[in-house]
Amino acid sequence: MAYQRREYPQWSWSFSRLQTFEACKRVYYYHYYASHNGWERNAPSLAAAAYRLKKLTNLYTALGDAVHQTAQLAVERLALGKPLMAVGEIEERIREKMRSVWQWSVSGRQQFIQRPNQVPMLHEFYYGQGPTQDVVDRINDRIGKCAHGLAASLTLAELAEGRGEVIACEQFDTFELYGTQVFAVPDLVYRSQLERYLIVDWKTGRQEEQNLEQVALYGLYAHAKLGVDPEEIVVRLEYLDAGSVVELALNGEMLAVVRERAQKSMAEMRGYLADVELNQAKPQHAFPLAENRSQCLRCNFLELCAEELRIDLAAVSTR
Ligand code: SF4
Repeated sequence: MAYQRREYPQWSWSFSRLQTFEACKRVYYYHYYASHNGWERNAPSLAAAAYRLKKLTNLYTALGDAVHQTAQLAVERLALGKPLMAVGEIEERIREKMRSVWQWSVSGRQQFIQRPNQVPMLHEFYYGQGPTQDVVDRINDRIGKCAHGLAASLTLAELAEGRGEVIACEQFDTFELYGTQVFAVPDLVYRSQLERYLIVDWKTGRQEEQNLEQVALYGLYAHAKLGVDPEEIVVRLEYLDAGSVVELALNGEMLAVVRERAQKSMAEMRGYLADVELNQAKPQHAFPLAENRSQCLRCNFLELCAEELRIDLAAVSTR
């Protein structure tokens, strides 16, 4: 489809949008509104900067991406009847992706500034001299644990034994809720022999309450897209680092709670619009800075807030 320029971004909703909105209204503004059209050659400087900064990643997110890509490959290979990848191969694939992100971050600053959607850049290098040895050690340790977790994954074992039919794997999709397009990208949806639909999420971090909430939203997606009864859906979180699994059988009541939460969140977000039909945001000053400033030094958009926050970026870069 040919690219069609839009003056304002398209209105939509997702769980990550909700998290961003709750974390800091200014991040929300930069990420979902100010960055719009920032990819254009003659974009205003705020749009160009917000678009660039939105593309920054960090070591933890990069690890999550590398693990998800490797898990997707493992699922695709199993679907082709190939054997489960050995732990050594899984680990090497994850490390290879991490090395590439690291190398670009060390030497590709100019390329990132020119083409932020094509070149990866770690926050740790963009704003500083790179991560501390402590963080590097922690990530190295986590890579090994996640590789072992994936090789021993309950989900992959079930698929390898032919006990599941893959329906979707890392498939970018949307469904409609209260007239709003909702984005959902479940890591994996498959149908088990017990005639249940399993929605799987691979986690590389620690257990958090909101993880279950996010996967419950995928339940709404499965209900809407596949016409599946809520009682037939089980969500499974595989904590690869810890080697543990949490499962939750959904029901109609749970989906009603998620639906209600989404509706409330959509209404709150619309409260920050100057024109709801156009999805035109109110001016920047209507989006306050974070109440919890402890997140600011890790924020992608620090560069844009530094002056208002009275933070000296030169001092940050030598930390
Ligand atoms: S630097 Fe702080 S106030 Fe600014 S967008 Fe980020 S989190 Fe919000």
